[in-house]
Amino acid sequence: MSLFASEPFPAADAPPLVVVAVERAVDRSPDGLTYALPPALAALPEGARVEVPLGRGETKTPGWIVRRIPETEDPGVDRAKVKYILAQDESGAVLPGELVQFARWISAYYACPIGMTLASILPAAVRKSIGRVERTLIDLAEPQPDPSATGAKKLNPRQKQALALLATLPRPIELTEFAHAAGYSSPAPVRALIASGHLVAHRKTAVEAGFIARSGGVAPAPEPTADQRAAFDAICADLGRFSQHLVFGVTGSGKTEVYIRAIEECVRRGKRAILLVPEIALTPQTVGRIAGRLVHAKVAVLHSGLTAAQRNQQWTLLAEGGADVVVGARSAIFAPIPDRSLGLVIVDEEHEPGYKQDSAPRYHGRDAAIRRAQLASCPVVLGSATPSLESWLNATERRLSRLHRLPKRAPGLQVPKVSIVDFAAERRGFRDGRVNLLGPTLREGIATTLDAGGQVLLLLNRRGYANYIGCSDPRCDWTLTCTECDAGMICHVDARGQIRRSFVRCHHCLAEQLLPKTCADCGKPVTVFGLGTQRVEEELSRTYPALVEGQTMLRVDSDTMQTAAHFHDALERFGKGEVRLLMGTQMIAKGLDFPNVRLVGVVSADTALALPDFRASERTFQLVSQVCGRAGRGEKPGRAIIQTFEPDAPAIRLAATGDFETFATRELTDRKEYRLPPYRRLARLVLRHPGETECEKRATDLADALRALAPEPTNPRAGGFSGVVEVRSATPCAVARIAGRYRWQIEVLADSAADLSKLLADARSRGLLRLGEELAVDVDAIAAM
Ligand SMILES: [Zn+2]
Ligand SMILES: [Zn+2]
Repeated sequence: MSLFASEPFPAADAPPLVVVAVERAVDRSPDGLTYALPPALAALPEGARVEVPLGRGETKTPGWIVRRIPETEDPGVDRAKVKYILAQDESGAVLPGELVQFARWISAYYACPIGMTLASILPAAVRKSIGRVERTLIDLAEPQPDPSATGAKKLNPRQKQALALLATLPRPIELTEFAHAAGYSSPAPVRALIASGHLVAHRKTAVEAGFIARSGGVAPAPEPTADQRAAFDAICADLGRFSQHLVFGVTGSGKTEVYIRAIEECVRRGKRAILLVPEIALTPQTVGRIAGRLVHAKVAVLHSGLTAAQRNQQWTLLAEGGADVVVGARSAIFAPIPDRSLGLVIVDEEHEPGYKQDSAPRYHGRDAAIRRAQLASCPVVLGSATPSLESWLNATERRLSRLHRLPKRAPGLQVPKVSIVDFAAERRGFRDGRVNLLGPTLREGIATTLDAGGQVLLLLNRRGYANYIGCSDPRCDWTLTCTECDAGMICHVDARGQIRRSFVRCHHCLAEQLLPKTCADCGKPVTVFGLGTQRVEEELSRTYPALVEGQTMLRVDSDTMQTAAHFHDALERFGKGEVRLLMGTQMIAKGLDFPNVRLVGVVSADTALALPDFRASERTFQLVSQVCGRAGRGEKPGRAIIQTFEPDAPAIRLAATGDFETFATRELTDRKEYRLPPYRRLARLVLRHPGETECEKRATDLADALRALAPEPTNPRAGGFSGVVEVRSATPCAVARIAGRYRWQIEVLADSAADLSKLLADARSRGLLRLGEELAVDVDAIAAM
């Protein structure tokens, strides 16, 4: 700027300028756009949600103040042309500064525009002020109006009585409550006393919501084991500075006790803690345990199972600094904890794929937790019996985090006895001509357990009745596929469990139709193959008179558990013992702790092994070990029976013996050899388009454009990178078409997170990544999309 410019310095009354990130899917200027604050809003802080005029049409668009530009700084724009912010958002929500900073990292790392990222952090219930009520509180005016003054109202005896009563009550008191106490039938007489100056009133807003039920009472603290003590001592010693800890504890070893003690110490030091749990339905159980031990701490919960008003209430409570601990699913990592007060972040069952968000911003709750702790300079604790290979590598070879082993189950708990059953061999013994999904070993195990009064958990990772619908003539290769997706349809039986009235559903686009009776090619009858949870349910009711569907036996999968409340209710009935057998998909493998579960059955351990994903072995290992760990958590010993067609698969064999370290070492050797995560960082970009050729062309063009931005393999440092970035050729996705849209993907692999980020940032600044219907970017993708 020239010294002779007409306005070298802002005029004394120049409005303050701010940078606003608008809620749009494209962001060529990563930080945002410059706006001016009108006098009425001059004090708006960073983190406030606002409405701004955007573009030539001045379209009213929501956005966020991400930075106030200091008066001394050259804003880089012509002040005279800067537009004014229109209004503050009605909710009045303001995100703490640390959260805005955190959102910036999420936006940069997961390649999602900052405005969209901030929008996803603020729950809709808060934005819409659901449950917010205004109350009027009243108090006696000091001094009382002089009765001799001209124009002063004379009080009647009833009013004098009411004022005398108020003097004896705890004040300030709510207007309606006082009206009631004083015997008035409406608030009008009280309002008259305000008008006459005898009472003062002020308004207070609060969020009202239904009571959040929490299970469990006050619990005594158990004597910690030496391993538990060593872990929480090390964590507590790090309170006040950033450090990473991995608590690797076998199922039933008491990881929660370590968390509770660390949280206790964090709260004692006046700081706040975030505890993430993988499954919504597990939150009440965890909250109950925490609240039962930390009787003086205020515990908030944040998860999608809350009503909108409850969500707003909990969020507001946190934002006002009214909670010491927040327990919640993935999104609780965005808890609006006031600046400089976060003291500890814990991620339980850190290996769970459910921590990855499957819409933009596609963040990983665990990795985000590490970053949030780093920004707050506090320790982060990851816990698992089957750590992700990412976390294991960080704790061992890379020495980025401290490893705490809890190798033994808590005193009194025995390790369950695990048997692997070769299902192919068992099936040869069947003589009844039926399709049997439970072999003799598992059948016998269920019968013995039920007879002895125990409970059973049964895992099958596949919904529906049968997953393959085809022609009964072996010479014909017709199978029923979805017309809109490149995928087979899944057979489901109707609510009455009748196969005659079966329907088929596509698990990708959810299209449904009746089960056809005949083959579309040759007209012969249709037959269904394969397994699903419904079919197992049918076999169980046929085999065991004690198991009645919906009463003593419950099926838990996303078909039956449409809300978190359904799942919570199912778990409660199982906990009370009225349900004898709980069967379902991986939903039941996570963290359940029921002392009377004496048998865990895995109907088919192979369903996860068959996934077209380099993590298939890791997933299988985790699933089998986790579900086996649900057995024998009480006084009676437990056992687990695993049916498989691949009894020698290392993932299954090592899970059965509980040998995580051998599994991890083998698997990491393979990953290193093929240069797969966690040795490299992977981003997956998926393009979707209704036209097959167009989809392929766009994917190929984008891959070429990305490759042009990537560093030269021979001299990566020339472009500001530190290593090699490999942009693979575009290929069709595993499911090549969903809901009528073709899908192509590009995989980008980089030696470091920084290089991957740099490439994606370069692509964003060139406008190559416009997220939405046609493009998804998944950084650190953990599953095929
Ligand atoms: Zn479909
Ligand atoms: Zn046919």
